[in-house]
Amino acid sequence: MNKTGFFWDEKCFWHAGGDFAFTLPLGGLVQPLAAGGLPENPETKRRLKNLLDVTGLTKELHNASAQPVSWEDLLRVHPEAFLQKFKNASDAGGGSLGLRTPFAQGGFEIATQSAGLAKEALFSVLQGEMINSYALSRPPGHHCLPDFPNGFCLLANIGIAVEAALAHHLTDRVAIIDWDVHHGNGTEAVFYDRDDVLTISLHQERNYPMDTGDAEDRGVGAGEGFNMNIPLPPGGGHALYIEAMERLVLPALSDFQPDVIIVACGYDAAAIDPLSRMLATAETFRAMTEMVMDAAADLCGDRLVLVHEGGYSEVYVPFCGHSVLQQMSGSSITAPDPMADTLNLRQPSERLMRMHSEFITELEDLFR
Ligand SMILES: [Zn+2]
Repeated sequence: MNKTGFFWDEKCFWHAGGDFAFTLPLGGLVQPLAAGGLPENPETKRRLKNLLDVTGLTKELHNASAQPVSWEDLLRVHPEAFLQKFKNASDAGGGSLGLRTPFAQGGFEIATQSAGLAKEALFSVLQGEMINSYALSRPPGHHCLPDFPNGFCLLANIGIAVEAALAHHLTDRVAIIDWDVHHGNGTEAVFYDRDDVLTISLHQERNYPMDTGDAEDRGVGAGEGFNMNIPLPPGGGHALYIEAMERLVLPALSDFQPDVIIVACGYDAAAIDPLSRMLATAETFRAMTEMVMDAAADLCGDRLVLVHEGGYSEVYVPFCGHSVLQQMSGSSITAPDPMADTLNLRQPSERLMRMHSEFITELEDLFR
């Protein structure tokens, strides 16, 4: 029996909207692209599913869709006025709320489907049906604030899933690690004053949002000390991610003793991503997955859930995601990284890596 859940739905690939050329609104001197739209387009995710099908790994996963999240689920995170505005605009043909979050007609239903995949992936693990699960959610969720969608994120997928699990008493202690290259400002905002949910974000400093994600932002009130931002310098590669995980993230997990670990799994820290300046590879994502699996084995009966966030190289994301799902499922089916040789040669020099280590030491002191 397959023990890794893989939650996806074709509807999520149909999310669309907005007249953009890359991140620029059309108009003035911005010429429309032939294959236009935002970098957050269906291909980055659909091509991961296609690669899994072609190698045969799909067959070793427990494939399922999920119910969309309910209005009640949504209300645990988002104000009713925001939800109603979103639903009305979606019914009326589409629109855009917040910042760079366009949607077409029915975009509300697709967003609730995307959050539903995250919720079901989490429930499948907490209810003991799966050892670990992956939600191929789209649109992504980690930037969405309760009342302000931004950064391609229309609903707070992970926040909604966690609040539902807490409300159903399936868990009372959740750790969320966000290794998307951008700061998980939405997830942070949902749980900033809480001590039952630990939020950790590894991100390229001042990428997006430019004014959030500082290491000094540790939470407020009961949540003081339960938010950890790890802003990494541009140009950090495989070694920096592994060191940050080993020296900062894993000790924080150990201290917190979660009963489930959730990863906001973006692939935009990859070396050829158009929206970032980091040098991670498919092996980086596989190795980080192995590290969180080991932590989950030690701390919480293997309970681990990955929820897909960003990642904008249509060509490379599938190889990163395949490495992650192969690791999660323990399968022998590989999709060797065709760019490994060239990306390994582009990793930072020894000298730069020493500076990165010093930087991690500074953060270690700050978090102590
Ligand atoms: Zn991102």
